[in-house]
Amino acid sequence: MGLLSQGTPLPFEQSQKYSSLVHHHGRIQLLQMFKSNQNRNNSPFLWGDEVEYFLLFFDNKDYNNRNASLSIDSDYILDELQNSDKTTQSLDVSFHPEYGRFMLEATPGNPYNGSVFSDFLYVEKNMISRRNIILDFLNNRNIPGYKNSNKDVYPLTLTSFPRLGCSNFTFPQSSNHLDKSTDAAKSLFVNNKVINRHPRFATLTKNIRNRRGSKVSINIPLFIDQHTNSSTIDQSITNRLIYFEDNEHLLGAAKPNHIYMDAMVFGMGCSCLQITMQAPNLSRSRYLYDSLAPLTPIMLSLSAAAPVFRGFLSNQDVRWNVISMAVDDRTPIERGVNPLDSNHKPSGGINGLQINNLIRIQKSRYDSIDQYLGGSPNFKSLYNDINSEKDSSTFNYLIQNGFDHQLSSHFAHLFIRDPISLFSEKIKQDDSIDTDHFENIQSTNWQTLRFKPPSTVTTEDDFSKSPGWRVEFRPMEIQITDFENAAYSVFMILVARAILKYKPNFYIPISSIDANMKLAHNVNSALNEKFYFRKDLTFENLTFDQMETTNGSKNINKQLLNGYVNQKTKETDSNGNGIHKANGNTINGNGICKANGIFKANGNGICKTNGNALNGNKNFSHIQQKYSVNEIVNGSKSFIGLIPFVKRFLNEEFAQEMNSKLEKDLANKERIFMYLLLIEKRASGEIPTIASYIRNFILTHKDYKKDSVVSETINYDLCMRAKSITQLDNEEILNGFFGLDITQFLLRSKI
Ligand code: ADP
Ligand code: MG
Ligand code: MG
Ligand code: MG
Ligand code: MG
Ligand code: MG
Repeated sequence: MGLLSQGTPLPFEQSQKYSSLVHHHGRIQLLQMFKSNQNRNNSPFLWGDEVEYFLLFFDNKDYNNRNASLSIDSDYILDELQNSDKTTQSLDVSFHPEYGRFMLEATPGNPYNGSVFSDFLYVEKNMISRRNIILDFLNNRNIPGYKNSNKDVYPLTLTSFPRLGCSNFTFPQSSNHLDKSTDAAKSLFVNNKVINRHPRFATLTKNIRNRRGSKVSINIPLFIDQHTNSSTIDQSITNRLIYFEDNEHLLGAAKPNHIYMDAMVFGMGCSCLQITMQAPNLSRSRYLYDSLAPLTPIMLSLSAAAPVFRGFLSNQDVRWNVISMAVDDRTPIERGVNPLDSNHKPSGGINGLQINNLIRIQKSRYDSIDQYLGGSPNFKSLYNDINSEKDSSTFNYLIQNGFDHQLSSHFAHLFIRDPISLFSEKIKQDDSIDTDHFENIQSTNWQTLRFKPPSTVTTEDDFSKSPGWRVEFRPMEIQITDFENAAYSVFMILVARAILKYKPNFYIPISSIDANMKLAHNVNSALNEKFYFRKDLTFENLTFDQMETTNGSKNINKQLLNGYVNQKTKETDSNGNGIHKANGNTINGNGICKANGIFKANGNGICKTNGNALNGNKNFSHIQQKYSVNEIVNGSKSFIGLIPFVKRFLNEEFAQEMNSKLEKDLANKERIFMYLLLIEKRASGEIPTIASYIRNFILTHKDYKKDSVVSETINYDLCMRAKSITQLDNEEILNGFFGLDITQFLLRSKI
């Protein structure tokens, strides 16, 4: 969950009073971070993953009433894990809280050094060790003097818990909507005991609801089967009105033929796999961020693992839009909709003069990225072709202090959001060293990628001791086994390293990436859909960019160094008065994108954008084309293919190890090739994505009644199946999940 400060979280009405203070100091701190790190260069390629777990309670004492539920009283192990420095340090693991009380997050204790061949093996070993440590603590194994025991609880890496929000979905039972003792979510379906005990999380939940002015409302298409009842809301719930919000679903918050969910936990209670990587310097980190952007929907599609929500099979395969809607704190004005009824305000929970600042905002704060960072020779500003609202005070401040146009826009976009989680102890800050106000805004913008600048340093000696310019890749769903999670992580790292080495041009317009994000949600999108991707990228045709020869990185660092740089690019003109005019002519000149948009500062610090400003006549067919995931991953006539791209990198960068006959090198090589084989086969459809596997498991379960309902027994059997797959303990099951080659490999060479 990013920043987790200790302290007293403020309710929304109070934190809203500090909104401009947080923005003001946040941008000063950001500048300080950039200034103090401007000479940071040649950082090593370090990286790390984040894996999120559910603690699953398996109750099989009575076989006919078997149930798998989320354990909400095992979270004590997190404190113990975080306090047992000896265990975690010596095993190089680190545990973190997550939104759900039934969740844990674990990372390597130290970032991996991606420059050593054998480190790729270390990733999977580290993941296995994390799961084993959780099990040790749950089962009271190997821990001297340790008293707790929870032998029926197991850490599973499922993206969505199929029955979250249904009867008996927690252990101990939490009486769902009946208990209204606290009012964080006011959900019809879940009790607040599912939320992490740290007050930050309940307050965040409540603040999002209060800012929005209603409960969050999540609707995803229901999979309609022969006997499906299109109403997914049980009547006994609708009749139990306690809170004002309890009838919102009747006012249109719940859509017909959809699975309706009404609380943050439905989204933030999903698990995912995130990868953070460090680039040598600012310029390269921007280039890496941009190059990874077109891969976000592709990897979402390839990692799809979430076909069930609130006990119903859905007509989509992934979690992404669920989380997006689960934390959508925009008021009706910002969402461009009418309030639910006359008791709900267009301005949501915003009061007083701040109402005048409300503008239409296209996306939730959890969504796909809105713009490239630019700064490399292949970038063209016409690729940033969607509306990305900007906080004009932040934009102007950054421009005046030497940030270039794209960087300023990027941060000014993050700064359109209010702080929704502010600790009273953190209000007063020393902007010359503290970064909490910046991190406050940054860490509650949950996008497909996160650009993580280094924290402020006081001397350049600190460069080697603190994290540098990093990019976080965030779209992937968590996979069931450590083998798969290692495979997806290592694949992404190899792609990133190959990008940094060969510098291909992957740019397509942001609007195409957004179109791809929508497609990636569809059932079995990896096989059924075609995605936009940069065309004519073949080995012969690989357009190496001029970054090395023009020394782009140095120039860009220099711009920041030298203070104010008047960024008179072709498309934009910026003056100190807070008016930023997009000059449509240049762009029109190419007949590519009609920009009739003018960003007008309204004096109160937020830019107003014309609804259709940059979405004019698009024709990018000369640079992009539609490909299947198989073509993008495995290659086609007019596209290099990510796997061949990565293999070329391995052969060139690790020539010695790849040709070595040493047993150790051969074992490493084989496992890396198995990682790539998994990705290849999921892309070609030879083996299913996890979402397809789960969907098929349900549709063919003997208890399934063709009504889209995932019952307690089906869910139990599914979770037991996932546990068996995690433990690699049944060859026949593994054959169905991984295919024969990978299964044979896994059984022959367990680590
Ligand atoms: P967040 O939740 O904000 O993304 P976490 O601390 O949970 O942050 O995870 C950060 C990830 O970044 C971990 O996998 C960690 O190993 C990794 N990491 C830490 N330092 C570096 C670094 N210098 N470069 C790259 N990755 C790093
Ligand atoms: Mg997390
Ligand atoms: Mg996080
Ligand atoms: Mg984390
Ligand atoms: Mg999460
Ligand atoms: Mg993260």
